[in-house]
Amino acid sequence: MQKLFHLDCPREAYQADACVISCFDFRFDLAVRKFLKRRGIAIYDHVKIPGSVKAVVAPDRDSDRDLVLSMVRTSLRLHRPGRLLLFGHNECGAYPGAPVEAIAADVAKAAAYFTNAEPMLTVESFFCDFDGVYSL
Ligand SMILES: [Zn+2]
Repeated sequence: MQKLFHLDCPREAYQADACVISCFDFRFDLAVRKFLKRRGIAIYDHVKIPGSVKAVVAPDRDSDRDLVLSMVRTSLRLHRPGRLLLFGHNECGAYPGAPVEAIAADVAKAAAYFTNAEPMLTVESFFCDFDGVYSL
């Protein structure tokens, strides 16, 4: 291996403030990060999936739902977050032509799914629009 970049990274294991699920749409990346910081969530496991929680409530394959739950459970096991934050966003490529209400409804369904799967976890739902982040 050839070293290409130097940065000292923390070696200590961490406890996450939250586990976060969002779409990988970069247009909302800064809004999500600033929103989390504003809410005091500094350390988090970020699961980015095209379409966000659509992989849970309307997956292309059933195995997609299992994979997402597995990722959340891995976060719980390794980093013990007490909260799971779910983000949908407007004009998501996984929802061509869908109204905001349909995307928001999927986030709410996913929240119910995770609450049922992991009752000890506090699940919070949000929606990113082009002017900021909304609670659901
Ligand atoms: Zn998206």
